[in-house]
Amino acid sequence: MQSIRRYFIQLLAIYSLILIGLFLGYRLLIEYPQEVETLSHYQERELQSLANGLQLNLTNLSTIVRDYARWDDTHEYMLDPDAPSDFPDENFVPSVFATFDLLAVGLYDLSFKPRFRQGFDLEEEDFVDITEIMEQPLANTLATVTSHTPPYQGWVMTARGPAAFAIDTVTNTDEDAPPSGYLVFLQALTKEHISRLEQITRLKVELSEPTGADVAFPSLTEPELLEGVVHQRQRVLLDISGAPILTINIFHELTDDPTAIGWSETLLLSLLLLTPVVIGLFVDRYIVQPLRSSTARIQKMVEKQKIREIPKGVPINELDQIRCAFNSMVRLVRQQKQALRKMSLTDSLTGIGNRRDFDASAHYAWRRAMRRHDSFTLALIDLDYFKNFNDALGHLEGDRALQQVGLTLKGFIRRAGESCARLGGEEFALFFSGETERDALQRLNQLRIQVASLGISHPQSPIAKGLTCSIGAIHIANPGVDYRHLKLEELLTKADKQLYGAKAEGRNKVLFESFSLPMKNEEQLQEPPSITQ
Ligand code: GH3
Ligand code: MG
Ligand code: MG
Repeated sequence: MQSIRRYFIQLLAIYSLILIGLFLGYRLLIEYPQEVETLSHYQERELQSLANGLQLNLTNLSTIVRDYARWDDTHEYMLDPDAPSDFPDENFVPSVFATFDLLAVGLYDLSFKPRFRQGFDLEEEDFVDITEIMEQPLANTLATVTSHTPPYQGWVMTARGPAAFAIDTVTNTDEDAPPSGYLVFLQALTKEHISRLEQITRLKVELSEPTGADVAFPSLTEPELLEGVVHQRQRVLLDISGAPILTINIFHELTDDPTAIGWSETLLLSLLLLTPVVIGLFVDRYIVQPLRSSTARIQKMVEKQKIREIPKGVPINELDQIRCAFNSMVRLVRQQKQALRKMSLTDSLTGIGNRRDFDASAHYAWRRAMRRHDSFTLALIDLDYFKNFNDALGHLEGDRALQQVGLTLKGFIRRAGESCARLGGEEFALFFSGETERDALQRLNQLRIQVASLGISHPQSPIAKGLTCSIGAIHIANPGVDYRHLKLEELLTKADKQLYGAKAEGRNKVLFESFSLPMKNEEQLQEPPSITQ
């Protein structure tokens, strides 16, 4: 068997474990993977839009190249390469280079022989030789890519950094003439391009030249998030030969950091765990503790053999009902105890007190009389020739006679400090205090006369026609501290001695021993004056 507190703690521990398990299970297996997946989709889209942004640069450049390549003027210029022409000087002026951020422009015939090549310094805004832009002649690049279907586009490394290129075949405006050559534009990847990309993608982007180690980074066109969800990642931009020409440091803006167990989860978990603790404390304070203290209180009552009602103190109905039930039981036990006590002190035949009651009350009255210096009278009453009475009239009649005598004695008692009892058989006793010697004797004589006057016929009595009694009494006129050694038993012995004397002197008498002076020693007690009436 365990205590309720222990059961409750076990219950709370199991509840907390289940709660933690469910919470962590949900968080780690369902919610967190979903968050990570959402974020990885988001980051994938960001990377994709960055790649798309760069691709858009190429597409735009291709469109510009196409405009120039599919034009009668360009076509005518390329059809007769040896004829003198103002075409390049008129069309590829510095403002065209500056507008489209062009680093170089090249026109080649169908066998890749250059017809026109021009480099441009975007910072100086002036023409430079094309070899200053690209050490490798542009024709080589052209040869690499023209094996594919035009238009061609991609990224190359130049002396001025990575650049986009676009190539298209030159033909007439209607696009129905056979190609006459190739037109190539080389466009710088400027800071403006990058900041435009940052605006579109909402990413922060930093460009750097690739080092040897950067070769390991995936290409920007790689669709998968190889590193998962991160704050920062690196991608490289590949040229047409597949060599990295630019390392792009990408910084994702992480509004929601995907932490499996962050502070909000910890707070929620703490709250979830705190709730049962608070409930536990409440139950302990308002149920367990009152139960324990009530149990301890009842155990103490049992130990001390003093049961008392439990005062009100718990604001919980059910506990208060237990308290009320216990208190009702206490009252019932008290009533039964009182009834039992009354029964144990009452003589069942006459209804007056019995020997036990007399011993206790007489002892108390004698001590009280000594304390107050009140006179004290103790008397023993014995019915005369009662054996004969029974023999003559039967036991039942004898019982009736005893009841009548009992009633007479009860009527004799006047005040609270007085009492009478049936000591056993046909022997009664009584005591009273506060009477003078003379009055006490007179009262006892009246009692004797009252019994004789009951008119209970006693055919076998040698001394009278009716039932009589003999009384032996002791009267102490002024008891005090000197009488402390005189116990009740001794007083009873002395009264019994007087009763014996009354019997011996012929019965139906009161024999009275009186002490009017304080008893200093045993001698005084042993030679008392006696009065007979
Ligand atoms: P004495 O005058 O010397 O006292 O003579 P006695 O016959 O009264 O005394 P004894 O002690 O010889 O007899 C007492 C009798 O009281 C004996 C018994 O039959 C009777 N007695 C005792 N108790 C009861 C009782 O409860 N009911 C009845 N009916 N008689 C009882
Ligand atoms: Mg007797
Ligand atoms: Mg008798």
